[in-house]
Amino acid sequence: MPESAPASVRDTVGSEDSYRRRWTWDRVVRGSHAVDCYPAVGSCPYIVYLKDGSIVFQEPAGAFPPVEEGVPDFNPMGCQKGACWDGLLNAPERVLYPLKRAGERGSGKWQRVTWAQALTEIADGIIDAIQDVGPESVFSPNGANACAWGVMSQRRFAALTGFPVSDFDTDVADFAPGMYLTWGKLTVPSEDDYAHSELIFIWHCNPAYTRIPFAHFVIEARYKGAEVVLISPDVSPSAMHADYHVPVRVGSDAALCLAMCRTIIDEGLADTAFIREQTDMPLLVRLDTGRFLRACDLAGDGRDDQFYVLDEASQAIVEAPRGALDFGDVKPALEGTFSAKLKDGSTVEVTPVFARLRERLRDYAPEHAAEMCGVHPDTIRLLARKVAAKRTHVYEGLGTGKHYHGDLMGRAMYLLLALTGNWGRKGTGPGYWSVGPSTAGLFDEARRVGGREELANILAGYRAMIEAFKAQDPSRSDEIASIEILKQMAATTGHYVPPLWWWYYHVGFRDVWNRREWHDPSMRREFDDYFNEAMSRGWWAGVAVPLADRPPRVLLEVGGNVLRRGRGGQTMYLRHLWPQLTTIVSVDSRMSTTGLFSDYVLPAAQQYERPSAMGLSHTLFFTMLDKAVEPAGEALPEWQVFRLLARKLGERGRARGVTEYRDAAGRTFNLDTLEDEFTAHGAMVDEEQMTADGIEGSAMTGALPDGTTIESLREKGIVRFTGWGIIPYAQNYQTPIEPDSTMAPFRAHVVDKRPYPTLVRRAQFYIDHEWFLEAGEELPVHKDPPRMGGDHPFVLTGGHGRWSVHANNIAHRRMLQTHRGRPHIVMNAHDAERRGIADDEEVQVYNDMGSFTVAVKLSPSVRPGQLIMYNGWDHYQFRDWRGSSNLEGSMVKWLGFAGGYGHLHYWPFMWTPIQVDRATRVDIAKLERPDRA
Ligand code: SF4
Repeated sequence: MPESAPASVRDTVGSEDSYRRRWTWDRVVRGSHAVDCYPAVGSCPYIVYLKDGSIVFQEPAGAFPPVEEGVPDFNPMGCQKGACWDGLLNAPERVLYPLKRAGERGSGKWQRVTWAQALTEIADGIIDAIQDVGPESVFSPNGANACAWGVMSQRRFAALTGFPVSDFDTDVADFAPGMYLTWGKLTVPSEDDYAHSELIFIWHCNPAYTRIPFAHFVIEARYKGAEVVLISPDVSPSAMHADYHVPVRVGSDAALCLAMCRTIIDEGLADTAFIREQTDMPLLVRLDTGRFLRACDLAGDGRDDQFYVLDEASQAIVEAPRGALDFGDVKPALEGTFSAKLKDGSTVEVTPVFARLRERLRDYAPEHAAEMCGVHPDTIRLLARKVAAKRTHVYEGLGTGKHYHGDLMGRAMYLLLALTGNWGRKGTGPGYWSVGPSTAGLFDEARRVGGREELANILAGYRAMIEAFKAQDPSRSDEIASIEILKQMAATTGHYVPPLWWWYYHVGFRDVWNRREWHDPSMRREFDDYFNEAMSRGWWAGVAVPLADRPPRVLLEVGGNVLRRGRGGQTMYLRHLWPQLTTIVSVDSRMSTTGLFSDYVLPAAQQYERPSAMGLSHTLFFTMLDKAVEPAGEALPEWQVFRLLARKLGERGRARGVTEYRDAAGRTFNLDTLEDEFTAHGAMVDEEQMTADGIEGSAMTGALPDGTTIESLREKGIVRFTGWGIIPYAQNYQTPIEPDSTMAPFRAHVVDKRPYPTLVRRAQFYIDHEWFLEAGEELPVHKDPPRMGGDHPFVLTGGHGRWSVHANNIAHRRMLQTHRGRPHIVMNAHDAERRGIADDEEVQVYNDMGSFTVAVKLSPSVRPGQLIMYNGWDHYQFRDWRGSSNLEGSMVKWLGFAGGYGHLHYWPFMWTPIQVDRATRVDIAKLERPDRA
């Protein structure tokens, strides 16, 4: 029985007709859960049932029509968290009133205050920070659970105040450097496209836990005859749905992959026509420098981004087209060594990338690779032959980039797809994550007066910019031009910042990242050498990176939980950041660990308590998330929290004579007009009206059918997207949205020969940036994970848990009743026996960063030497409120700072260094005084 159920329903329990009356209602609402429950991203259509104004239960709406004949539909999209979501609305951890700390930070002592008092004091704290340091000292980490109104409010507020917000993908380390290096973008198919696959590799993913609404597509594909291969060190819960489980050693995926690539080439199974046209394999590389042969090598006025191939027929070196992939009558060589005459009259030897790749793969004979990755050579060959023969999808989770050498793993995985022609057709390609169609909400930041006319002007202006960028360089496609625009806008807007520099300067990570022994041994110089070189050479010039001389004073968290999620956890944040902060604010619906250490906790409305609408490319449907009940207590939707804070900043600014200020870049902001600007002069005030505007605006962008309104969406609950629109993240898919078809990305590249947004305008496996050459990583290679965290015997891995969306549901009573209900680390039973550790015994897990205490769950499914700590547990659920993120050294691979090179340039969510956590080294010890429990 839901905690929220009205007395009229609860009182029937035990009576004769209780069951019938239990399932009665007097109103239904179309709802969902706008949290970052990747990959559904909060848009499973639900029906919320109410009686007497209270929620009695909710269930998946089952509203999806069939899309393509012969392909299963999306029904019923949902998960167990969604099935009891209403339990969060009145949960014990729910924040109902503004709270102010009444003791030391983290003392657990609070006093209830009025909104007016809380906002006045917070506004004064912010104004103090602006006066003392500047607006950059008011920092907002990203909140993965603040989708919809939290993110929108935070970003618009930041744009009008100059308060930085950390880049979402960088903050949560969801960026996939290998994918970006290869294609200059991230991508994912619609989930129903897996139904067309003949072979699915589940890689760095555990869909049985993390993709509950979509996992059925893999199972159904298998029912139709597809084979499913799980690549995972442990026998993960997804193994039961696979035909093959390949227990690769932790961090050795690239070795496995490259051995498969070698097998494919050695056995003549490579799709040479595909790699000639779609990839950089035919481009010529100078043997003297290891760099591509460029036009500027051949002539004084030559471009540095014009590349060459050797035509097999004429034996002449000819330009590779930049505006298209098609070589016409030219058949580029993939093998051989040739001479090229340089502009100074000298000659150099050149060879195609493919020939360099063959050399690289000499180290990856299956027998040799087996020693690196632990997979039998026969298995490697078996899998390689399957990929070469079948339509293959890589069902990739977000774990790849969280490995130190995740970039190499990703590049190797995509090389496997390239060699076998496996993208651009249904049932093939990579699957990671990306933003979806250009809905109107994505333009909210730019809106100044609101209304349809302004949106039409914004869209027209953006289209005009695309045409202007194409006119500057006719070889640019719409996609490439659109990315160029965003790169330049990222340099001028400046409120969405890659947080690496903030962590480096202000959260103590400079010392950690300079621990040489925690980096890869192939790093030739000190970390700071690379960092300083990247900055001095201007590779990050124009990107609003956090500055050393702008220390933080105010932390403004919205739906985040930096003390739990932030790599390094309390070890880094409480020790290094907290003492610098004069005001810490947590805007959240629940009391998190970060809330417990904050100065103020402001109650935010939960799902079902305010309307919105959202959808992404995973389904290609847009979903109504309606309001079912009023916010509990004094909670407010995040938009209203920021609106009131804007108003209070204006009031306090006027009272204190501080209204206008500048940031370090010289931009001027005004507190006096902040509320007026935030609400677009009153046009953006009410969530109902803004949701209606957003839906109609999304039809204007072309993302939704003409005539879609909030009323029509309320009636159906969902509507299928009709188009991508113009923002780069949407154009990145390069496959049209069709009403009766699944979507596999990159069709326009493969069918229409449209160029990729990389330096070489092709899928790029050879990165001739000087740092990559220095690292020996110009081509994919395997390198063992470094010993991050110290010289300890166990490797700690993780992944999202089954029972929560981040920490959102982790204290939900019903969820806790479905499993052990307290934090636990999963350990191999033999390892435990050797150390005399019993099941459910509390142990100490430690490394050079710190320690935490946790119960052990013994399992034969875990690889010896591996420990698994699933994500989501809030630190207050552990002893001493200390959890697993405290142990994460969170190293950053130095190559992430590379720049000054084609597509290696920041734009929001893209090309950014990230912290990694997988394979952190730890040890485990019995508690000396178990009675301490
Ligand atoms: Fe779907 Fe996310 Fe809700 Fe689960 S929590 S039902 S995945 S929207």
